[in-house]
Amino acid sequence: MTTKPLIVITGASSGFGAEIAKLFNQAGFPMLLLGRRVDKIEALPLDFSTVLIKQVDVTNLDDFTAAIKSAEETYGPTDLLVNNAGVMLLGNLETQDPSEWDTMLTTNVLGVLNGMSIVLETMKQNKQGTIINMSSIAGFKAFTNHAAYVASKFGIHGATETVRQEVASHNVRISLVAPGAAETELLSHTTDQQALSDYNSWKQTMGGVTLDPIHVAQTVKFIYDMPQNVTIREIDITATKQE
Ligand code: NDP
Repeated sequence: MTTKPLIVITGASSGFGAEIAKLFNQAGFPMLLLGRRVDKIEALPLDFSTVLIKQVDVTNLDDFTAAIKSAEETYGPTDLLVNNAGVMLLGNLETQDPSEWDTMLTTNVLGVLNGMSIVLETMKQNKQGTIINMSSIAGFKAFTNHAAYVASKFGIHGATETVRQEVASHNVRISLVAPGAAETELLSHTTDQQALSDYNSWKQTMGGVTLDPIHVAQTVKFIYDMPQNVTIREIDITATKQE
């Protein structure tokens, strides 16, 4: 039986979320891993003895809440929620299908607001707990073909700092990680060929070398490993050659 507290990670089926899950699993934490493709979570190289997996779309507050409450019955209150799930669909605003804006804004913004709202009350009562939201360099810097994505990540920067101020006096930590480009599944959902070509040209400005997701996972763990009375409010992390 583990004595470590519960870690909840959204978007654990690939990319950063999968790396974060591996790191906390190796450190012996019980985890609730969330995503829509549970088969991909089940295929991760983890010790599953203290891992719970739930198929949850983060835009569905009821399902998201039920999954966390159920895991807490087994492992106690959530000590770390990593709001990592996100989607990026590149395109020029004038030609992009507005349904793609909707997908990005609901997943990247409402998904994070949902997550924070579910765990905050208990964290405040216990004066213990950490939320780490996954934003992006695109949360404070504009990029061509990224209008709705940038809007969503600027939103997360604002919401994270707002909630941090609201709960700081309760000893609850709210942090943000803002990574630069990394080759995960993120880009694979973009269908706009011009936007993909523009991205690949931009990538050459940094020698074609992007972040390794393991370094984003280590950043999340570093923030969490600080004592509860220390909040790292934000870490921006990029490949060294990213502009
Ligand atoms: P991936 O596409 O590899 O991972 C995204 C994850 O989000 C998947 O596990 C996916 O799982 C999950 N997800 C997407 N939509 C939903 C949803 N509605 N409900 C639940 N889960 C969902 O990309 P990354 O690992 O790169 O992205 C992780 C985060 O990092 C995102 O927030 C992204 O914006 C951010 N980021 C990524 C950067 C990059 O260059 N890669 C740079 C900066 C920030 P499933 O499909 O199974 O539901």
